[in-house]
Amino acid sequence: MRLPKLRELREAITAVFSPRFTTRFPAEPCVVPERYRGKPEFDLDKCIGCGACVNVCPTEALSQVDSIDNEPPVRKITFRYDACIFCGNCSDNCTTEGGINLSNKWDLAGLDREAMKETHEFQLQLCEKCGAVIGTKKHLIWLYETLGPLAYTNPSLLLAKSGELATKSEDLEQPPQQLDGAAQTSDFMRILCPKCKCELNIQL
Ligand code: SF4
Ligand code: SF4
Repeated sequence: MRLPKLRELREAITAVFSPRFTTRFPAEPCVVPERYRGKPEFDLDKCIGCGACVNVCPTEALSQVDSIDNEPPVRKITFRYDACIFCGNCSDNCTTEGGINLSNKWDLAGLDREAMKETHEFQLQLCEKCGAVIGTKKHLIWLYETLGPLAYTNPSLLLAKSGELATKSEDLEQPPQQLDGAAQTSDFMRILCPKCKCELNIQL
């Protein structure tokens, strides 16, 4: 029974004369390691609003809503850092490899949960035939730029890049039309969802 007591006494004396292990925060700023996983932050120059990060977020800290009835239609991506577990899935799976990054911000406590969320809006591209959501305009332009010469096989990407989008082109000022079997060759130069493009290819 005496030996454990002596060991504890030795450890206590050693601890008294050892340097402290705790930091002096908040009296001094706390410096975190270089690769610390802190609050995720969007880089809106690189984020294209594709929503891939939303799909892989395990806690639904990231969510998205497509508001098709808006003028223009928009996708809203919301990030709530009060629900974030800083796992890094969003950053690891970002389509552009830089749209969202974990920062070293860690002092995130607060009393107002509503202040702990941010929302970013991205203009949507709808199918000119059926009105289905194709993706964000930024995403289409990113695809064009990433694919290089291969993008020339896809008129939708060309139109997106050239700026001839729904609000600009004469055709696109018309409301979306339902496929009624009256497909025309000119429809190939419209921005179509994969389903309408497939049906057009079969009809013509
Ligand atoms: S770090 Fe993890 S929990 Fe936080 S937003 Fe990204 S995927 Fe979601
Ligand atoms: S995956 Fe990347 S590019 Fe896509 S919405 Fe998320 S942060 Fe933006």
